[in-house]
Amino acid sequence: MPATPSSPTSPGHVLALLRATGPLTRLELQELAGLSRVTLTERLEALRGLGLVRHAGHKESSGGRRAEMLEVDDTGSTALVADLGQSHATLAVVDLRGTVFAREHRRLPLRHSPTEVVPMLLDTGRKLLRRTGRAETLCAIGLSVPGQIDHDSGVTVAPPTMPDWNGAALREPFADALGVPVLLENDANALAFGDFRALDRPAATLVGVKVGTGIGAGVVISGRVHRGVSGSAGEIGHLRIEGSRQLCSCGRRGCVAAGAGGQALARELGVRTTADVVRLVGHGSPEAIRSTERAGRLVGTVLATMVSIVNPAHVRVGGAIGVLPPFLEGVRRGVESNAHPSALRDLDLGPSRLGENGAFVGLAGLVADEMLSPATVDAMVAARQEV
Ligand SMILES: [Zn+2]
Repeated sequence: MPATPSSPTSPGHVLALLRATGPLTRLELQELAGLSRVTLTERLEALRGLGLVRHAGHKESSGGRRAEMLEVDDTGSTALVADLGQSHATLAVVDLRGTVFAREHRRLPLRHSPTEVVPMLLDTGRKLLRRTGRAETLCAIGLSVPGQIDHDSGVTVAPPTMPDWNGAALREPFADALGVPVLLENDANALAFGDFRALDRPAATLVGVKVGTGIGAGVVISGRVHRGVSGSAGEIGHLRIEGSRQLCSCGRRGCVAAGAGGQALARELGVRTTADVVRLVGHGSPEAIRSTERAGRLVGTVLATMVSIVNPAHVRVGGAIGVLPPFLEGVRRGVESNAHPSALRDLDLGPSRLGENGAFVGLAGLVADEMLSPATVDAMVAARQEV
């Protein structure tokens, strides 16, 4: 008999247990799920039918018996993920573990619009799917954008530098073209979730900061992205700093981004782009290193407040500017001299370790949480049983 979606002993829930705690032996899983041997066998058969569970070797037990271990197979399904920025778009084909099979980077013109970019993303995405031979297993699309997302309507509040994206409904064109669900996420949230996944600690609390052209932060509390009521949790880039009068791209004065983002640094150093700033720091320009360290300190001061409120175990700093050593040093000093000492005691603060794949790993994780959720898995089991 098919399990009802709400049943705490359904196949979807067995998979959720295995995702959270696996690899496990059958007996361990049986005890954890509180199921009879027969029912567990049924559930596992349903999950195997969907290619979601696999052998994970054997466990030696006392008395020399070897028990078969089981784990979630999150490598069979494919997601197309894209990270959209103010001056670039990067696409990748990944599995639900975040393994990148192919990727492509595209530079975008200033003030680009969905009318030109969405068809390009779809074209490139289809090409990547063909190249990897994984089109058949495509189960979802994940898209990260530098703005706030209304998660009910799928509409973005874009940054002022991307006015044509403001109010754009982004799910429909992708869902219509590729016939799979579309997940949207703020770019800093996606990066923070990627760093969380890389920790491999399901209940960890982490604050991720992304400093590229602009500045944003994402908060992962006990393994879940905390988005807030309007999707703006962690939007630290446009907090205003007392005493600062610098004009920001948002039209206001004194924002953190106006003093510490890549765009602000480029202006200060008399170069054109964030990439130019990265190059200057790489070449050891004392002026660039000084400015970058000062920018890091400013971000660290704001971050100290977040650290005191959220009290995370981990802080990861990513983005093209964020991972520069002088920036990171500035962040560390800013946090250490301003946060509450008790919030610093066990704080692990460091650079994002995922490099250019950070957003992809995060998006793959968000797709996995959605597509491997008990409700989705139980619906897939039911659909299979009806055939
Ligand atoms: Zn601003």
